[in-house]
Amino acid sequence: MQENSLTPTRREALRTIVGAIGGASLAAAAHVFSAPRARKIKLDFNKLAPGAAAQYPFALPDLPYAASALTAAIDEQTMLIHHGRHHQAYTDNLNNALKDHPVLQQKAIVELLADFKALPPAVRTAIRNHGGGYFNHCLFWHMLSPQSSHPTGSLAAALNRDFGSLEAFKEKFMKAAATLFGSGWAWLTVNGKGKLEIMQTANQDTPLANGHKPVLGLDVWEHAYYLRYQNKRADYIAAFWNVINWEQCQRNFDA
Ligand code: MN
Repeated sequence: MQENSLTPTRREALRTIVGAIGGASLAAAAHVFSAPRARKIKLDFNKLAPGAAAQYPFALPDLPYAASALTAAIDEQTMLIHHGRHHQAYTDNLNNALKDHPVLQQKAIVELLADFKALPPAVRTAIRNHGGGYFNHCLFWHMLSPQSSHPTGSLAAALNRDFGSLEAFKEKFMKAAATLFGSGWAWLTVNGKGKLEIMQTANQDTPLANGHKPVLGLDVWEHAYYLRYQNKRADYIAAFWNVINWEQCQRNFDA
């Protein structure tokens, strides 16, 4: 159990954030709504990983384990570079984008990202990319653990309900991670209807912007795996199952 370092205000908050919902995820509802509409996402910040509720000035959160702890899937040097340089760069660039925007500085990162299309054009892309990178990696480190485990409880039940079985879910998730073209993430999310769904996001886009809550995510940028796996992304994806923190995934699901 890691301690959450949120401020009391944030800890107590069950915040409602508004995200614009776009085309694909609403395809099934297209006969009802002719245009994308805003949807409210309720997120309990306390249950997400530390950093997910953070505000300006953003700080790089510590890894919740040693950089060498995940060698069942990810080597130490990759972890050190990925956390210490890539995540640090997203953090610094996000702070830089916000330094002259005192109103935006008051917003939690999830609020900025869920409705990034409403941000001022001058900082929209920077916040989308670096804010997304900051947020996604905050979640990612805590979705991983040196102790491999299995989904249990309500999350296990929902995986069975929505995918048929754990194995069927894993197969579908691995396909999403393997077929994502270029840099991005594969996610297990809760969609606006409370159902589990697998999605891909490009670059550092987050499920929040589509009105989805992230439960589990896999970074498939080459910087996440290239030192050990080079072009064999599928081997990295297969090893990922050895280091998933399903307890955190359950908390994300509960959030
Ligand atoms: Mn990354």
